[in-house]
Amino acid sequence: AGSDADCDVLVIGAGPGGYSAAFRAADLGLKTLLVERYPDLGGICLNVGCIPSKALLHAAKIIEEAAFFSANGIDFGSPQLDLKKLTRWKQQVVDRLTGGLKGLAKQRKVNVIQGSARFLDNHRVEVDSAQGKRTLAFRNCIIAAGSRPAAPPGFDLSHPLIMDSTDALKLETIPSRLLVIGGGIIGLELATVYHALGSEITVVELLDRLMAEADPNIVKPLRRIIDKRYQIHLSTKVTEVQPAEREITVHLQGDKAPETASFDRVLVATGRHPNSDCLNLEATDVQLNEQRCISVDEQMRTNVANIFAIGDIVGQPMLAHKATHEGKVAAEVCAGEKSAFDARVIPAVAYTDPEVAWVGVTEEQAKAQGLDYQVGSFPWAANGRSLTLGRDEGLTKLIFDTKTERLIGGALVGPNAGDLIAEVALAIEMGADYHDIGLTIHPHPTLSETVGMAAEAAAGTLTDLY
Ligand code: FAD
Repeated sequence: AGSDADCDVLVIGAGPGGYSAAFRAADLGLKTLLVERYPDLGGICLNVGCIPSKALLHAAKIIEEAAFFSANGIDFGSPQLDLKKLTRWKQQVVDRLTGGLKGLAKQRKVNVIQGSARFLDNHRVEVDSAQGKRTLAFRNCIIAAGSRPAAPPGFDLSHPLIMDSTDALKLETIPSRLLVIGGGIIGLELATVYHALGSEITVVELLDRLMAEADPNIVKPLRRIIDKRYQIHLSTKVTEVQPAEREITVHLQGDKAPETASFDRVLVATGRHPNSDCLNLEATDVQLNEQRCISVDEQMRTNVANIFAIGDIVGQPMLAHKATHEGKVAAEVCAGEKSAFDARVIPAVAYTDPEVAWVGVTEEQAKAQGLDYQVGSFPWAANGRSLTLGRDEGLTKLIFDTKTERLIGGALVGPNAGDLIAEVALAIEMGADYHDIGLTIHPHPTLSETVGMAAEAAAGTLTDLY
């Protein structure tokens, strides 16, 4: 540390971005402080995001699969819910991971301070903790303070019948009628959970399609399945919410939507707001962009040379794996290494039923950018493994640059699409062309064969369907 600094690196926020940055910094020999306002490490992702939602989505999957088999030779009876036990199990998963992080921090001698940090200037923060206020001077600071649910104006997230994603994951009750506002990844994942647990679901989306960033061809199979399960109103706006004691009446504005409808609970999943307004950044020279996110360069450095920012607080895509990689870059730059965040592609996954995953350019983007591209697709109805899972709706779609024959994008829908997208991401990063992917022997029978076969379809060498 510099003579008057308390540490080489002070990290604010212990989510995936912050803990990765702190651990990497410590591994590189820097004296590291990690400040987190909550007692548990792990941020949104581990505590009220990725992990608890995936635990509940796994429970939802078991319910759906049991229902499938009751018509196909094994009847488990109808599910009996014990919400206390289910939430206890979910919490055990979370605790195991957050507890693990505590151990890893200790092993590395990362000094974890519980308290809320606010800037005093470009070189100091004040941390408000149970032991009182203390001032900490840093040589470098990495801001990893994340984001929080954003509600449209007029929505009172503190009302007991109105939930954000954090409330929804508590699973306090299973409402008979649940309105999900927002047809993006978080809204549709939580709809999957509540539908499986017995709620009647209505989804309202302002745009004219669900999961707008994804390729519409890939969303279609999901849509076909959820159309049978939920009421979906696209191009529809919720203009007013009127909570009463036991139910909420909402006013809707959209072509085919009813003017008013009543629900037992409303889940607001309309996006997330960066926590850039919780840090007293006004005391520094750090600049924000129009979305109120902190502006950074490829070294994750703000306009102030010794202050870095990573993760959700620097903007989209707000994903844990992006935060982690950015965190490592920031730590390495603090240690004097020549690192930069230059990921070619960042995969996105919706863990809905079926899962939807995509990476790199979509066909719409390729068209809009005037790229000379070629598509190779493979329907999972011709994949043996998919049929053994009782599923035939999946699709793998790869996009290649016509001239170089290299993979530039890919999208999949179907069970486990989220795991399969990793191969597509690696192939893009490695500059693989359709021959490379098609000639790679994929194990049979697996869903991964659909990736090889979509590449063979593009190369014109596809012979077999199985
Ligand atoms: P965060 O995880 O938000 O952590 C920031 C931390 O900073 C928090 O712990 C906060 O308490 C702390 N903090 C803030 N201000 C201060 C302060 N002033 N002083 C001290 N501490 C402070 N992403 C995926 O990649 N995959 C998924 O499946 C996925 N599922 C999700 C499901 C849900 C329901 C939600 C809400 C999000 C999901 N995400 C998912 C997004 C993912 O959780 C975020 O992208 C990720 O957590 C961002 O990491 P981060 O380090 O930037 O910030």
